[in-house]
Amino acid sequence: MERFAIAIDGPAGAGKSTIAKLLAKRLNIIYVDTGAMYRAVALYCIENAFDYNKKEDVERALENIDIKIVYQDDNQRILLNNRDVTDLIRTGEVSKGSSAVATIYAVRIKMVELQRNIAKENSVVMDGRDIGTYVLPDANLKIFLTASVEERARRRYNELMEKGIECNLEQIKKEIEQRDKNDSSREFAPLRKADDAIEIDTTNLTIEEVVEKIIALL
Ligand code: C5P
Repeated sequence: MERFAIAIDGPAGAGKSTIAKLLAKRLNIIYVDTGAMYRAVALYCIENAFDYNKKEDVERALENIDIKIVYQDDNQRILLNNRDVTDLIRTGEVSKGSSAVATIYAVRIKMVELQRNIAKENSVVMDGRDIGTYVLPDANLKIFLTASVEERARRRYNELMEKGIECNLEQIKKEIEQRDKNDSSREFAPLRKADDAIEIDTTNLTIEEVVEKIIALL
C-alpha cells in the first residue's frame, strides 16, 4: 500500500497524543509525537545550563544535540545523544522550555527535517502544532483538535494526579494559556488550523468517539 499520513494539530491538552496513539494502533502505522523533540531540546538546555529563553544559548546548545526516534513494542522512545529521555521530558519545567525553544527558527528547521524523514519512510499519524500547515502540507487527512481551556487543564491535572504528581489546577490552566499564547503568536510556523483541516472539538466527546469520527473521515 502507498504510504499515507494523518496530521493532528491543536493546542496543549486537546487530546492529540491519546487520539493519535489509538489511531496508529488501529491503522497499524506509527505514531510520531513531534512535541517530544522540542521537549528533548529543552531538557538538554536545562541539564547543561543553557538558558532556553535566550536564542544564542539555544542555538549553541543545538550544535551538540542529536535526536533520534526509535520504536520499542510499538511505542515511541526519544533518544537525546543516544540516551533514552522519554520519561524525563514530561515535567512542567520542560513543557515551559519546549514552548520557548520552539519559537527559534534553527530549532524548528532541525526538528522538521527529522519529522519529514520519518514520514518519507513510513505511514504515520503525526501530532504537533504545525504538521498540517508546514511539516506535511500534503497529508492525506488533517485534523485540528480543540477543547475548552478548562477541560484541557482538567485533563492535564488528572493525568498528573494519576501519576502521583501533586499539582494545582489553576496553575496548570495558567501554564496552558501561556503555552497557547506562545505557540499561536510565534513568527515561524505558529499553531494554526490548516485551511483543509477538519476541526473537532473534543470538550464533550469521549476518546473512543473522537477516534471513531476520524476513522469515519478516513
Ligand atoms: O505537544 P507537546 O505539549 O509535547 O509540545 C511541547 C511544545 O513543543 C509545545 O508547547 C510547542 O511549543 C512545541 N511544539 C511545536 N511544534 C510541534 C510540536 C510541539 O512547536 N509540531
